[in-house]
Amino acid sequence: MSEIKRHKITCIVCPLGCEIEVKTEGDKILEIKGYKCPRGKEYAIQEITAPKRIVMSVVNVKGSYFPTVSVKTNKPVLKKLIPQIMKELSQVELEAPIPIGKVVLKNVAGSGADIVTTRPAPRSR
Ligand code: SF4
Repeated sequence: MSEIKRHKITCIVCPLGCEIEVKTEGDKILEIKGYKCPRGKEYAIQEITAPKRIVMSVVNVKGSYFPTVSVKTNKPVLKKLIPQIMKELSQVELEAPIPIGKVVLKNVAGSGADIVTTRPAPRSR
């Protein structure tokens, strides 16, 4: 029989920031309390079963004043994919000029998300 655990989660779906408590036993969710709406319950279940995050990083740039440009995923991705995403990003080298919002990698690490630039990198003269 698995150990019963209590997880405390702050819901980030809206500014109210409800404190949600999830009781689990192994993979099974026994109880969820503290949420004020169904979106919070859904968020808590996702945080326990398959947490997702927006990933932010930088990639190398050639021919710019800046050696790197900041990037992020265009939607939250499974946390377990983050090491593979960072590995794929380490192999990218862009050529300036680069506009903001440029898609750098499509479907990074099979996550379903694209990597986009979050600032421009002008060409150096
Ligand atoms: S549970 Fe609902 S009301 Fe509470 S923070 Fe989450 S989204 Fe907002």
